[in-house]
Amino acid sequence: NPSKSKYHPINDATWKYGEKVPYLALARTLEEIENISARLKIIEILSNFFRSIIVLSPEDLLPSLYLCLNRIAPAYENLELGIAETSLIKAIAQSTGRTVAQIKADAQKVGDLGLVAEQSKTNQRMLHQPAPLTIRQVFANLKEIAKMTGQTSQGKKIDKIKSMFISCKHSEARFLIRSLAGKLRIGLAEQSVLQALALACATTPPHQSYPPERLDLSNKSNFKEKYDELALILKTTYCECPNYEKIIPVILQEGIEKLPEKCKLTPSVPLKPMLAFPTKGVHEVLKRFEGLKFTCEWKYDGERAQVHLSDNGDVFIYSRNQENNTTKYPDIVSRLETIKGENVKSFILDCEVVAWDTANKTILPFQILSTRKRKDAVEENIKVQVCLFMFDLLYFNGAPLVREPFIKRRTILRDNFKEVEGQFHFAKNLDTTVIEEIQDFLEESVKGKCEGLMIKTVEEEATYEIAKRSHNWLKLKKDYLEGVGDTLDVVVIGGYLGKGKRTGTYGGFLLACYDKENEEYQSICKIGTGFSDEVLQTHTEFLKKHIIEKPKQYYRFDPNIEPDHWFDVVQVWEVKCADLSLSPVHRAAIGIVDPERGISLRFPRFIRIRDDKTVEEATSADQVAEMYNNQDQIKNQTESTATAD
Ligand code: ATP
Repeated sequence: NPSKSKYHPINDATWKYGEKVPYLALARTLEEIENISARLKIIEILSNFFRSIIVLSPEDLLPSLYLCLNRIAPAYENLELGIAETSLIKAIAQSTGRTVAQIKADAQKVGDLGLVAEQSKTNQRMLHQPAPLTIRQVFANLKEIAKMTGQTSQGKKIDKIKSMFISCKHSEARFLIRSLAGKLRIGLAEQSVLQALALACATTPPHQSYPPERLDLSNKSNFKEKYDELALILKTTYCECPNYEKIIPVILQEGIEKLPEKCKLTPSVPLKPMLAFPTKGVHEVLKRFEGLKFTCEWKYDGERAQVHLSDNGDVFIYSRNQENNTTKYPDIVSRLETIKGENVKSFILDCEVVAWDTANKTILPFQILSTRKRKDAVEENIKVQVCLFMFDLLYFNGAPLVREPFIKRRTILRDNFKEVEGQFHFAKNLDTTVIEEIQDFLEESVKGKCEGLMIKTVEEEATYEIAKRSHNWLKLKKDYLEGVGDTLDVVVIGGYLGKGKRTGTYGGFLLACYDKENEEYQSICKIGTGFSDEVLQTHTEFLKKHIIEKPKQYYRFDPNIEPDHWFDVVQVWEVKCADLSLSPVHRAAIGIVDPERGISLRFPRFIRIRDDKTVEEATSADQVAEMYNNQDQIKNQTESTATAD
């Protein structure tokens, strides 16, 4: 039972030294985590489980980690599960003797096929007990299933699922089915998993661990410093090298401390991008950057692209989300030779891809870019042409540049790459501190079909901060100068059935921001504006597939705004609003600005779906609080109260 606070990695484990870890040990751990919402407790439980694995069966650490994250390969390998519910229902029916209709009906009622699978299994009598499942075997099978393609693959997948399902005991069926569906639904964020791994290594160092001491976790000062240090190293390494297949062996053989030396930034492995903070005006920018050198660049409105050239000549293009977009842009790949200077051998470029009107030589709106085929595009058939705007260089000829100041990165970029009209350009920039010039440059960017400006430090405080929203990059969007400074990216968690003209589709939706601290989705507003009939139809069809019977335990909302249907968290929407205000009903950022009230968006308007963001990358509660506090009326209020005091 890994939730014991004086857990012993050997005595308290349910398996023995050298044995393969039973899948049931994982299922039990996930079961406990599912019932807890305190993040620190979740981390402790998971770390205890990892400690036993490290000591008893280190080979199982990688598959266990993957199964906890519900992944089977690094994100950029585009290898995903996500088996259709109909296939899973078929497999459950065939292995339990129940009918498809019964299972479907139960799934509708319970809202979770995993639980239905578990229930169906409990009621089934087995003549002989099959051998218990192991983590290694389940993981290998999942990977095999994900790789199956072709016409006959459907049947083969179902057979493979059945072969595992028959051996499931207790909650194993629940987690197996959820893993196969691609949704673990236990509210376990990657950061918590990394944190748990660091804690496990701090308390039970992997490469010297047998037999480990009994550790008293209640006396935190014993290992707290070590834990913080290891957690930081692990998280930083994961940013530069988001590949557990490289990280875990190093941890096991040499310890987390060796990671910075062994797992470095490498072309072909995507890194999480640096992001910017919103601002509402040039004055705010000047205040923030007082005494620092900075530059203004046009903020192009397209899709972020990280272009990699590895030493052996392979080209990869990754999305903001580290998905492999290489086959979406064969045109960019085939033209890449034209921009390389003579001595260019390997690089990682940070760019924005924009749709391009070749006849008029202008940028086209984002909506046009989104009509391009997402994968396996054939160059001859491409209708929407694109232009790549290069704004940063993160790696060049064998050396990472992320710790160098922007001025150096930009110089190397411009000295070694060439522009090709309508295909490759450097982001247009202006290095100035004169207010009027910045304002004119902003106007110019909007005339040039851009969203506004990105303003970046150049020399001091100007390294590339991987995976961070940094104050060294500020965005200034023309549309929001007087408003709230930026749009928000929020998650749809519920739908209200439409009336009148909107009968048959949803008429409104409940939106939420993501609170990273508590790992929960907090309601932020209802929305019913900004949708054409067609868009509403599309949303309805998509979201109906993700209806859940009950709200998740990690949704925070007021019962008075309960929607007709709850949805699983699957999609992020970009929305605009007039301003942010304190709300007696909504729960966004509750406890940050006000102890009891949350923040809500006034006059929200739908802009677009953000396919390039995962639900955990939605606007966070902290960001919502910051945007709220940053509004002029709130600032003035706070300032005048301060003066009055
Ligand atoms: P949004 O795109 O809605 O502004 P975001 O959360 O995707 O938000 P931000 O950090 O807020 O990302 O804005 C930076 C984004 O702007 C980058 O991800 C990139 O896609 C785009 N961009 C366009 N031009 C530039 C530029 N010159 N420098 C950096 N990023 C740019």
